[in-house]
Amino acid sequence: MAKITLDEAKKEAASLRTQLDEWADAYYSKDAPEVEDNVYDQNYNRLLELEKAFPEIVTPDSITQRVGGEIDSDFTKVNHPIPMLSMGDVFSKEELKKFDQRMQKLVGHPVEYNVELKIDGLSLSLEYQDGKLVRASTRGNGYVGEDVTANARYIADIPQVLPEPLTTEVRGECYMGKEAFAKLNQEREEEGLSVFANPRNAAAGSLRQLDPKVTKKRQLSTFIYTWVNPPREITSQHQAIERMHELGFHTNETGRKLANLDEVFNFIDEYTAKRNSLTYGIDGIVLKVDDLSLEQQLGNTVKVPRWEIAYKFPPEEQETIVRDIVWTV
Ligand code: NAD
Repeated sequence: MAKITLDEAKKEAASLRTQLDEWADAYYSKDAPEVEDNVYDQNYNRLLELEKAFPEIVTPDSITQRVGGEIDSDFTKVNHPIPMLSMGDVFSKEELKKFDQRMQKLVGHPVEYNVELKIDGLSLSLEYQDGKLVRASTRGNGYVGEDVTANARYIADIPQVLPEPLTTEVRGECYMGKEAFAKLNQEREEEGLSVFANPRNAAAGSLRQLDPKVTKKRQLSTFIYTWVNPPREITSQHQAIERMHELGFHTNETGRKLANLDEVFNFIDEYTAKRNSLTYGIDGIVLKVDDLSLEQQLGNTVKVPRWEIAYKFPPEEQETIVRDIVWTV
């Protein structure tokens, strides 16, 4: 980082926070981003860099210290006793190597990872009582989300009843496939309505609807990847996914348990090449320490789990986003 005084850092950080808060509000609350993700990410990383160089300028309400996203007061609020966190991210294989070195140092031995696609949607929690779906909620600010149970009942791949009377919670991503997204935008255009900027915003705008009949008309899907309270015999992330699949959840079939970084890099190369041919959007790859007891041991920061990291695709690899469109509010 170029030389900068404490005062300059404080000023720049304050202005970055104001800007990032405004963009985050448009993105999370209105589902209508004002800038593309890589612009947001660059500014966010600059703020992180300043706060790392001058820890005394960190404020408790800085976006780096909390999960982005607010709650629409028109929805019933849902507490998340186990917070729904954000995720750390890296933008190069070099940084992934550093992440792996950090994991090895913290646990004292080489680590196996479950590697998954990073689905471009919004987090969803599903709670079951005696095998019946009783509540679905959004991430919100990580601690309090929005009750979207009525809407989730219209998402075809969410099991309303499990084959076993489990009382449990799973989490995953609610997304809109590319075909459904194109169809929705075409219909909106024909009706003279503004179109959605991308499938992520279309999914968020379609799930966070006070009238569930609107959600019903939109074709939303899910990929479930987290078992919040798995039974004792489940000791790894890849087992959790296999078992959730057996219970009827829609899980992503591409995830793989990999033993070293070379295999992880091959996976990244494979999906960097395949991403445009997938029927749903992805914005990166997620590495998760596979052993659930190690995950427990590693724990979380205020904002992200220490045991997982997202490798985000470089901007030039990102799919073209239609410009000059009216962002949908
Ligand atoms: P994130 O979306 O980058 O990553 C965390 C999320 O990834 C999780 O909450 C989960 O929902 C999702 N996810 C997808 N696949 C997953 C998998 N296989 N396993 C686990 N989780 C998976 O983090 P965030 O805090 O939600 O958002 C930050 C990002 O949002 C930024 O990096 C930026 O790209 C974007 N953003 C953009 C704007 C904008 O104006 N364009 C504004 C705010 C945020």
